[in-house]
Amino acid sequence: MTNLKSPAFFISHGSPMMAVEKSKTAAFLQQLGQSFARPKAIVVFSAHFDLPRDIVITRGRAPKTIHDFYGFPQPLYDIEYNAPGSPELADNIADLFTEHGFSPVLDSEQGWDHGVWVPLRLIYPQADIAVVEVSINSRLGADIHYQYGQILAPLRSDGVMIIGSGSISHNLKEVFNPSPEANSKERVQKFTAWVNAKLSAGDIDALLNYQNQAPELLFNHPTTEHFLPLFAALGSSDRRCVQRIHEDIEYEVLAMDAYQFS
Ligand code: ZN
Repeated sequence: MTNLKSPAFFISHGSPMMAVEKSKTAAFLQQLGQSFARPKAIVVFSAHFDLPRDIVITRGRAPKTIHDFYGFPQPLYDIEYNAPGSPELADNIADLFTEHGFSPVLDSEQGWDHGVWVPLRLIYPQADIAVVEVSINSRLGADIHYQYGQILAPLRSDGVMIIGSGSISHNLKEVFNPSPEANSKERVQKFTAWVNAKLSAGDIDALLNYQNQAPELLFNHPTTEHFLPLFAALGSSDRRCVQRIHEDIEYEVLAMDAYQFS
């Protein structure tokens, strides 16, 4: 039987509150899992698995749910997302990185951070599809994360979905303590429109050079860890088949765009 190529996605996971509150993005993610064939497994690059070292790959068979946030309501801390891991796929991923000159590290203890379980629990509530998480490194740039995606691209032909989980804009200071004169929404729209235009045009050079070219970058991303997972998803894809499949702005400043890479 031939396997269908699985799509790749970039998903804005927003606030952890999306796990317990109704929102446009939560509703979008809930229908997403039904709109294409079920993948054999899912590889996630999450903003919350950002390590200042070599690539780390989760290898546990039953990773725990990590509640890696503070000061949120108790129901969020009670949620468990028991998707299994896949040591076999983790080994396969490690081999691919090794073949390309990297020195990946396998970690059997690492659990699912909320960049994994908040969106996946909405997309696949049964938690019955194996997940492997690959770390990002925000001390490094877009190019290397794009390369991570390129290295893992062959897995998609084997039915493995690749997800970059971050946020298309991510200025938490403006979420919690908005400056009165910031024109937040306009500045977010300017940035997200630029990203969408470059992705739609397949302008990889501009995207990889976003730190010099994107408007309102520092307002939208004071730090880069929520943007970099986009490049991993992009690297795994054909640049001509990118589509924005969801957009919204929460709290006037947190853009929730999602992209599909077919
Ligand atoms: Zn986050």
